[in-house]
Amino acid sequence: MKVIIIGGGIIGLGSAFYLQQAGYSVTVIDRGDLLQGCSYGNAGYVCPSHFVPLATPGIIRQGLKWMLNASSPFYIQPSLNRDLVNWGLKFMKSATKQHVERSAVPLRDIALLSKQLYESWAAVPGLDFAYAPIGMMELFQTEQNAHHAQDTIKEAAALGIEARLLNREQLSQMEPDMPMEALGAVYFPGDSQLYPNLLMRSLLTFLEKKGVQFLREQEVNGFVTAGNRITGVRSGAATHEADHVVLAAGVWSTALARQFGLNIPMVGGRGYSVTFENTPFKVHHSIILSEARVAISPMDGNKIRFGGTMEITPLHTPPRMRRVQGIFDSVKRYFPGFDMAVPPADQVWYGYRPCSADGLPYIGNLSRYRNVTVATGHSMLGISLGAATGKLVAELVAGQPTSMDLQPFHPERFER
Ligand SMILES: Cc1cc2nc3c(=O)[nH]c(=O)nc-3n(C[C@H](O)[C@H](O)[C@H](O)COP(=O)(O)OP(=O)(O)OC[C@H]3O[C@@H](n4cnc5c(N)ncnc54)[C@H](O)[C@@H]3O)c2cc1C
Repeated sequence: MKVIIIGGGIIGLGSAFYLQQAGYSVTVIDRGDLLQGCSYGNAGYVCPSHFVPLATPGIIRQGLKWMLNASSPFYIQPSLNRDLVNWGLKFMKSATKQHVERSAVPLRDIALLSKQLYESWAAVPGLDFAYAPIGMMELFQTEQNAHHAQDTIKEAAALGIEARLLNREQLSQMEPDMPMEALGAVYFPGDSQLYPNLLMRSLLTFLEKKGVQFLREQEVNGFVTAGNRITGVRSGAATHEADHVVLAAGVWSTALARQFGLNIPMVGGRGYSVTFENTPFKVHHSIILSEARVAISPMDGNKIRFGGTMEITPLHTPPRMRRVQGIFDSVKRYFPGFDMAVPPADQVWYGYRPCSADGLPYIGNLSRYRNVTVATGHSMLGISLGAATGKLVAELVAGQPTSMDLQPFHPERFER
């Protein structure tokens, strides 16, 4: 049985991993060269600590305050674009306390499954992605966030996720190399760090050796249907026959899904990162600067990556270097000894997070076309949830019971 996966980001490759293992003939079609994109320059967190979806009452309040600041961490470029308006209305409707509460268990479950699967991948000969179970610290500087940290710890405990409050002294004992300006941190010992560039390259080589076919530089732009099935995928003049199609094209999945009548509202949440090698800036844990929403990732022994911002802007808008400067300025506020300068634009990476309208991924089979599985919309969590999504996709394609309840992630939830 032939499965075509549209999109070779982490979700496409994670799916290819489990589909190949289950014995399917797998082809991944990507419009790019498979060596860049959102699954490469991200922060590489595998983070069961992130059980709160992007759509929260807090982000709406904070986002409105940040709207006019060119170096702020969250920005929505006002526009009457139909997709943005559709997404924005649904996002605001979803951003409720009840939604946050309802989402915690499914997000925890898929993240814990994924972490367990990454641990098993780390033992697979030929797969190397510098997996490091080093834990995550969320540093805070304000009394308001110190208070919020207490709530986070209680919520984590209720979900069975270990979280500890660190005061200033404990923090500097655990991170002795870099003097910090922070009141404390929430420490999640169960989170892990990986090096996403290595993960993607390693998966590609591994899957190619296993016989997965990769069609590079081929943009999917249409489908052949027969009754309630998709029988082929078009790219340019070519038609590729398929018994089953997996849609994993990141933020671009919305336009493709529309072609077969499915509404999966998404926008690209652009984020930037800069990676240095062999610098004197040494931290021993993955770090989030809470107020600034900046991620600091020590990776692969000798690399450090600074990343952040969530910029909802039309795709192809030129990068805004002031936002990158904003990331560096924030690091300096927490680490006064930080003295690195923003590198030239060609050394700054950026990518588009596939942000769904309620902060939950879209994972599931369609009722209209019985041989289509959708796997996208992972927002800030595509790496963290990538291995589990791949396994769930393989189960969905096989028509087997899934490892967890997928109802909260149903791709048709905005059509009901
Ligand atoms: C700054 C930053 C930091 C982040 N940090 C983290 C983190 O620490 N942990 C975490 O879990 N997540 C993180 N993320 C989010 C994560 O990177 C994304 O959720 C994830 O990469 C999405 O993967 P994907 O496979 O869905 O999409 P993508 O990686 O975007 O892959 C989609 C692929 O589909 C292809 N495609 C699109 N359209 C077509 C078409 N028509 N035909 C053929 N191919 C097509 C594209 O070329 C692309 O290769 C971060 C993101 C950013 C920007």
